[in-house]
Formats: sequence, C-alpha cells, structure tokens
Amino acid sequence: MNIGFIGLGNMGAPMAKNLAAAGHVVLGYDPAGITTEGVTAAASAEAAATGANVVITMLPNGKIAQSVADQVLPVMEKGTVLLDCSTIDVATARRIGSRAEDHGIGFLDAPVSGGVGGAEAGTLTFMVGGSTESFAQATPLFDIMGRTAVHCGGAGNGQAAKICNNMILGITMIGTCEAFALADKLGLDRQAMFDVVSTSSGYSWTMNAYCPAPGIGPQSPADNGYVPGFAADLMLKDLRLSQQAAQDVDADTPMGAAATELYKIFVEQEDGSGRDFSAMLPRFEGRTRS
Ligand code: NAD
Repeated sequence: MNIGFIGLGNMGAPMAKNLAAAGHVVLGYDPAGITTEGVTAAASAEAAATGANVVITMLPNGKIAQSVADQVLPVMEKGTVLLDCSTIDVATARRIGSRAEDHGIGFLDAPVSGGVGGAEAGTLTFMVGGSTESFAQATPLFDIMGRTAVHCGGAGNGQAAKICNNMILGITMIGTCEAFALADKLGLDRQAMFDVVSTSSGYSWTMNAYCPAPGIGPQSPADNGYVPGFAADLMLKDLRLSQQAAQDVDADTPMGAAATELYKIFVEQEDGSGRDFSAMLPRFEGRTRS
C-alpha cells in the first residue's frame, strides 16, 4: 500500500518504520523535521496524504488531529481510509468521522495501548471505532504495527474504549499504591503484601503485572527509578479525556474524578511530571492523613 504517515514522534516514528520494513511505501510528515528509517520525508501533511491508500495520524491531541484531518481529507481519494491512532476526545473523533464520510473517505479512530516499547516491537493493541469496511482495509496494517486490534463499533468507540480502560488503570494504580503505603505503616512486609494480594481478590494488573513497589513482582518501572513506562503526564491526559467524555454524556464517575484530581496535583504541583504513573507509591509513602 501507499501510506501517508503524519506525526513521527515517539510513537509514530517506530510505527511508520515497521510499516516500511514490511514493504509498504511510506511517505512521512512531521513539522519537527523528524524522519525514520525506510520512510520518505514529505514537505507537508497534504503531500504525505496525496495518493495514499491509507493516511495514518499519530498526534498529540484532538485539536491537532482535527486540523490535520481538515488538511488531508480534501486531497485524499474516495474509498481510502484516514486512520487516527492518537489518543483524543471522543467528540472530536466522531466529528472527524462525519467529515470524512462527507468526503467519501473511511475513518477509523484507533488509539493504542502498549507505549513506545509496543510501537517499536510491533506489539501494540488497537481499540478501533469506524465501519467494518474500513476496519477490513486497515487490518493488514494493524497486523504489522500490533498484536491485537479490537473493533469496538462506530467512530469514536475506539477512544471510548481507551479512556474507559485507562480510567480503570488510573484508579487501580492509586488504590494499589495507597494500600502499599498503608501496609508499610502497619508493619506488613511488601513481599508478603504482594504474595497475598496478587493471589487474592485485590489482585489487578497494577499489582500483578506492573507492581509499583521496587523489587517486588515482575520487572516494572519501579525497578528502574520510575522512569516511564507510562508517564504520569499521559495518565493525566487520559483521565482528563475520561472526565470530559463523562461530562458530555452526564455519566457519574466519582472515582475517575478523584483519580484525575490526584494525578493533576502529582504532575502539576509535585514531582510527578516525567515519572512513571506508578511513582504514586513513593508519593503516598511520604505522606500523612492531613
Ligand atoms: P510525541 O509528542 O512524541 O509525537 C507527536 C508528534 O506530532 C510530534 O513529533 C509533533 O512534531 C507532531 N505534530 C505536532 N503537530 C503536528 C501537525 N500539525 N502536523 C503533523 N505533525 C504534528 O507524542 P507520542 O508519545 O508519539 O504520542 C502520540 C499520541 O499517542 C498521543 O495522542 C499520545 O497520547 C498517544 N499515546 C502515547 C503513548 C506513549 O507511551 N508515548 C502511549 C499510548 C498512546
């Protein structure tokens, strides 16, 4: 396929590289002048999109994704697909989907889970919203860039799945960290705490697979000084998107709201920015109730 790839940052560059290595012709564009192996640099988003069967965007936020979509949709041919892999708000994803439809172009919102490591290894998980036809067109590309692609329904549903997942993740990470900090103060050994909880009803991905306590459980960012992994800043972004969506549809999400507030304080007022989101544990360790 001819692929236009727009946004060659931490995630986009390795994804584009993997597509090129699999034999696709990839034209890439990033205003920061980034290029990557196997990808030919285009002078603009429009140039990258012209003649492409699929245009992929991997951008920081919904505002930029919308403006890039507005640039590329007019130059894309009918029947081609715009595939946005950025994490953005549900409402913007749905708006881009309907504009694409007006142009006779398929749209998929396909945010990812798996981080930079998953992008490099080609093992991402895609949560995909859009039509069945567009999903079928993009499936060979999902197979190269990732390990799993779940079709979640119409446009916007990929973003909906992503923010619901990450809202659970933020809430459970906080729960796991505050429980460890409480256990410390109660004199409970961390290994004993892990051995009990990881095999009892309090188990979770944050405890069993990504334990926030250094030296306990499988290897995780806690064992590497809380270098991300998944940065607290990105968790805050996703939690904010969950609360924006909850507000739009009048959903009551008190735990999501509390998690958003805690990550906001951690990132904006404490030392959370640039650290893994599991660094909530050292944050709680040093605190008292007041
Ligand atoms: P990044 O900031 O490294 O990359 C974004 C790129 O977009 C930059 O290189 C920037 O120059 C480019 N860009 C900005 N404005 C543009 C424009 N108008 N036209 C074209 N390109 C433009 O970010 P990232 O870490 O690669 O993340 C990309 C997306 O993936 C985000 O939505 C993020 O939330 C999501 N995500 C990231 C991770 C992660 O671990 N990094 C994990 C899952 C999802």
